[in-house]
Amino acid sequence: MIYLDHAATTPIPRAVADAMYEVLAERFGNPSSQYPLGADMKRAVEQWRRTVAQALGCDAGRLYFTSCGTEADAWAVTAACWQNRHLGKHIVTTAVEHSAVLESCRWMEKQGYEVTYVAPGSDGVITAEDILSAVRPDTALVSCMLVNNELGCLYPIEEIARGLAARNPKTLLHTDAVQGFLKVPFAANTLGADFISISGHKIGGPKGIGALYIGQRVKNPRPLLPGGGQEGGLRSGTEATAQMAGFAKAVELRTERLDEILDHMAALRAHAAEVLGAIPDLKILGGGPAAPHILSVSLEGWPSQNIVTDLGSQGICISAGSACHRGKPSHVVAALKLPKKVSGGVIRLSFGPETTFDDIDRCAEALRRHHDTRMPIL
Ligand code: PLP
Repeated sequence: MIYLDHAATTPIPRAVADAMYEVLAERFGNPSSQYPLGADMKRAVEQWRRTVAQALGCDAGRLYFTSCGTEADAWAVTAACWQNRHLGKHIVTTAVEHSAVLESCRWMEKQGYEVTYVAPGSDGVITAEDILSAVRPDTALVSCMLVNNELGCLYPIEEIARGLAARNPKTLLHTDAVQGFLKVPFAANTLGADFISISGHKIGGPKGIGALYIGQRVKNPRPLLPGGGQEGGLRSGTEATAQMAGFAKAVELRTERLDEILDHMAALRAHAAEVLGAIPDLKILGGGPAAPHILSVSLEGWPSQNIVTDLGSQGICISAGSACHRGKPSHVVAALKLPKKVSGGVIRLSFGPETTFDDIDRCAEALRRHHDTRMPIL
């Protein structure tokens, strides 16, 4: 199998599975229990939090584990609106956010909020000014992702934060960094965002674990889950200790070799752009700065769903857009307002540390065969 869909999810290394197994089978105590098996887990949870926080560039006390990136996004949106409920009922976000943010914003619309969805250019680029010019005195929240999961475009969060501080210091800033964490360099302490969402399964960790950074400007954050008081009383529920162990181990493994991994991904991306770019009718999408692990292209005229199925039958896993939108046209591609024959043929390749140049070459060959043997029907 050739797996080129690391933006959808990643395989976990054996060491991650081992760390999880140890916690599931041997160190299985509840961190709230008073005997040593529980106390050991309580200490371990704080150690795992420190590991993830260090990689994110923040104090451990500012990081809260969640059940996934989606939960972190939903919590950030509602907590920011809650904190700024006296400031106003306006949110600025982008038309290309992950549905975790978009649907949270739509839910806020039902609560009487007005949401401005900033559209990208046809190359996926969104500038800081695009965002800042949509901000109003009553804007409670700006939510803009760090890296777009379908295009790989990198958005200027630091610049947006600086602009907000100058123009609207009370507006809170959330960034969904699920595709940016350990893929592009940034530190929570200096990024300027008040909320940062991350997820374990995009970096070689297990599914079902994420985290939310909550910055110091957010006083008394709104609890997500009231209950037994875990996660500083903000997100109750018995800790998912095995998931946390796996998340922390994955972070450790990636950070140990981060420069090497990122250089490898950037080289793969450049190689993919070159070999795929040589296929007739193939267009590389996305402009501006980009994350190293995602390349979005369109085989103009050939429906992406057919390409994904054809390559899938040859053991090559690529995506026709976000894995969360199977079968439905992607809102991200739609926001680019491309001609139908381009938008209908969009596919995404995404890379991980295990991806090889040979994987890319074999995918390119299969794409070329698809082009040469099937009729364009868009
Ligand atoms: N945000 C982005 C940008 C993503 O790519 C994803 C996953 O596809 C999520 C949020 C959701 O993360 P999770 O699958 O952990 O809920």
